[in-house]
Amino acid sequence: MTDVPPPAPGADRHPALDLANTPLALTSGEVDLLATPAQAAAWLIGRGLAPPGSSVLELCASRLRTLRGHVRGLLSARVTGSAPAADDLEAVNTALTRAPSTDILRWDAEHGLHRAAAHPIDQMLERALAVIAADAADLLTGPAAARLAACGSPPCRRFLVRTHAARHWCSVRCGDRARAARAYARRREPAPPA
Ligand SMILES: [Zn+2]
Repeated sequence: MTDVPPPAPGADRHPALDLANTPLALTSGEVDLLATPAQAAAWLIGRGLAPPGSSVLELCASRLRTLRGHVRGLLSARVTGSAPAADDLEAVNTALTRAPSTDILRWDAEHGLHRAAAHPIDQMLERALAVIAADAADLLTGPAAARLAACGSPPCRRFLVRTHAARHWCSVRCGDRARAARAYARRREPAPPA
């Protein structure tokens, strides 16, 4: 898809932010990058949250989209400085605590001490959701939280971690569109009375 903008600033370091930005509102219309199980699997594999070659069921894709909605709710509350919705907090906490988000320490005679997933592969999704939820919690409370922003270029609804205070757009394209819209609005302003 050529219309998809590059990842927003911060999305490379924060899978929760990247997930939050998968529903795209483009000038050409709405696009969901997680619309199908195949797209959800590709997204998880691309972020190292599922082993290469994994496939997911629609139920799993749907759970990923549900968590996405709650993460978006929390990001939006943080950006606007309002109280987060109780169900958004609850959903992220449920995902956080349902599976360990990190590999546990194991020992066996063949490998000695090593780290490995605490759960078999069939719990891949639980673990992916836990990692995303843990990242969301870090993002919302860590040093990047104060620089979280919503893209200021309608119809875009992506979030970003601002790289500098003046940055309000998630991409060059959104910045160009916002500047063009402002210039257009200025031209339409009535001339001041003489
Ligand atoms: Zn944008």
